Amino acid sequence: MVVDPLSLAVPGVRGLRPYEPGKSIEELEREYGISNAVKLASNENPLGPGPKALAAIRHWLPELGRYPDGNGFALKGALADKFAVVPEQLTLGNGSNEVLALIARAFVLPENEVVFSEHAFAVYALVTQAVGATARVIPTRDWRHDFEAMTRAINPRTRVVFIANPNNPTGTWAARQELEEFLQATPTDVLVVVDEAYFEYVDERDYPNTIPWLGRFPNLVVTRTFSKVHGLAGLRVGFGVSRPEIADLLNRVREPFNVNSLALTAAQAALSDDAHVSQSVAMNRAGMVQLSQAFSDMGLAYIPSVGNFISVDVGRPGAEVYGQLLREGAIVRPIANYGMPNHLRVTVGLTEENQRFLDTLRKIL
Ligand SMILES: *Cc1c(COP(=O)(O)O)cnc(C)c1O
Repeated sequence: MVVDPLSLAVPGVRGLRPYEPGKSIEELEREYGISNAVKLASNENPLGPGPKALAAIRHWLPELGRYPDGNGFALKGALADKFAVVPEQLTLGNGSNEVLALIARAFVLPENEVVFSEHAFAVYALVTQAVGATARVIPTRDWRHDFEAMTRAINPRTRVVFIANPNNPTGTWAARQELEEFLQATPTDVLVVVDEAYFEYVDERDYPNTIPWLGRFPNLVVTRTFSKVHGLAGLRVGFGVSRPEIADLLNRVREPFNVNSLALTAAQAALSDDAHVSQSVAMNRAGMVQLSQAFSDMGLAYIPSVGNFISVDVGRPGAEVYGQLLREGAIVRPIANYGMPNHLRVTVGLTEENQRFLDTLRKIL
């Protein structure tokens, strides 16, 4: 008799459903026998990596026989300079996704609770479930975090609160004052993780940069990534910033060489490529106008977004429209699993990619 491994798995893992990534262009072209598909499904930068990152990668290729620097000395130094922190405050991850998982692993027990918002980034639920803890999911208000309700949900079992600012897939953001008040109201034995994956895209006067708040809030952890505006999603590199004592614990559970050497060198180069960041942000802004105006013209309600993606209500099950778009070679993201069954999340692409998607959508609706 062979034992079903399911019965051997730890409870958190037994109930786990893996993260569903967006379909890749290769997968779609293989399945449908089409060519020139557009992918607007994973919030990637349509311009890809910048010239500085690419040059750094090429330069490093002959060194690939060696292990990466397990402490990420050079990248941490560059990040510390850029954000006016010390290297001891940094935790590098295989994507910021890994940093979120490390936080759960280092701090959350099965008897603990983790608080996050409805329609929040799917990884918060996954990392909570993986350690067997209980998720407290707080309903949104107008697609935004309800910080008062989140404060009320915190109890002695709460260990971590995850906040995406801006949030994916809603694209909504929290203002300086509400976030600051939330942090002030949160006991310091509860970690508050502010996930700023789309930080560079946001251009709102009241949008907070929370890294300078680290001195005031000992329980704050800020995460950022090179996957979005820096165009390095395929290399997997992100980081957390916290006080050194927290970073030390996260670094204890981290695997020794969790960030590969191409990612380390590319990220370091990307940090100083201001031209690529501004070009990417400008491109995104134009594409956001293009998409939102077209949605308005089609009479579709969308959620105004400050990220590099926008969620639109297609007035019927998003999964259906998603399937029809696929057959025409446009990949977007159905988000029923985020509790948004009639919405599709569309990543802002190049002008012609956006147009191709919009023309197809118009045809279908
Ligand atoms: C994309 C994204 C991330 C990070 O992804 P990595 O590629 O793992 O760095 C984190 N948080 C949110 C809200 C995201 O949308």
